Amino acid sequence: MLCLYINIRKNMKQFNTILELCEKLSTEAKCIEFFINLRWKDGIECPHCQSKKVYTLKNGKSFRCGNVECRETFSIRTGTVMEASNISIKKWILAIYLATSNKKGISSVQLGKHIGISQQSAWFMLKKLKSVY
Ligand SMILES: [Zn+2]
Repeated sequence: MLCLYINIRKNMKQFNTILELCEKLSTEAKCIEFFINLRWKDGIECPHCQSKKVYTLKNGKSFRCGNVECRETFSIRTGTVMEASNISIKKWILAIYLATSNKKGISSVQLGKHIGISQQSAWFMLKKLKSVY
């Protein structure tokens, strides 16, 4: 979890502007792909048993472990700060960008306005992100 966030923070530097980030990660599918490439460079791995025998489910967003003793279903959110959240991956990426590109950080009020979520949801996101800072 921690490792993934640090990777993301480092990789945010590849985007010179927020405009560039929005253009490159314009869809939810592209955002999920971005996370998958960061997290599982050597192929998707089951977060429960570390098996590399993994099947992609029909929705394209979830995976099932191919290990007969495990068979767990998981997604890119499993085991990360995004796990118990309904907020889109795209909004999480934007929140990470906004929270890390400003040295003073960002308030939950500002973040909520920027990405179109409630102040409470933004506060939850920032709290989660700070927990892995
Ligand atoms: Zn497994």
